Amino acid sequence: MKGKKTIALVAHDNMKPDLVEWADWNKELLLKHSLVCTGTTGRMVAATLEKQQGKEAVADVRLLKSGPLGGDQQLGAMIAEGKIDALIFFWDPMEAQPHDVDVKALLRLATLYNVPTAVNRSSADLIISSPLFDGDYKPVVKEYRNYVERTLKK
Ligand code: PGA
Repeated sequence: MKGKKTIALVAHDNMKPDLVEWADWNKELLLKHSLVCTGTTGRMVAATLEKQQGKEAVADVRLLKSGPLGGDQQLGAMIAEGKIDALIFFWDPMEAQPHDVDVKALLRLATLYNVPTAVNRSSADLIISSPLFDGDYKPVVKEYRNYVERTLKK
């Protein structure tokens, strides 16, 4: 994970103010990395990062579809392809989401592929401030060869 990383950012509607405030606090660090975000979250984060930074500070933010329209699934596919170094996902613990199954799938894949995942501001702070974050730490991904090569009984 050394150098520029790809960080995924997602926040449910009630949590967006938290994520925007967190992104604002960590503007300098986030501008050094590539960000991949669900649509609405990404637009808000990009606006925050570029605010007061002068025209030359263009944030590297890739916008996926909005979460309920498939953005969480797109992010899950990127995790399965090894394209995401860290996931910052402020999901809402107080309100059911129409795309709850997608949320669960995204968290499942992040767990399966051992992607460092933050679900609130304190865990996000700890991930990005870890000395390992700037090093060449490589999360170990379990070996699933036995599963892939299993033969099914007829
Ligand atoms: P949004 O999606 O950033 O497009 O709002 C986030 C989500 O609800 O998963």
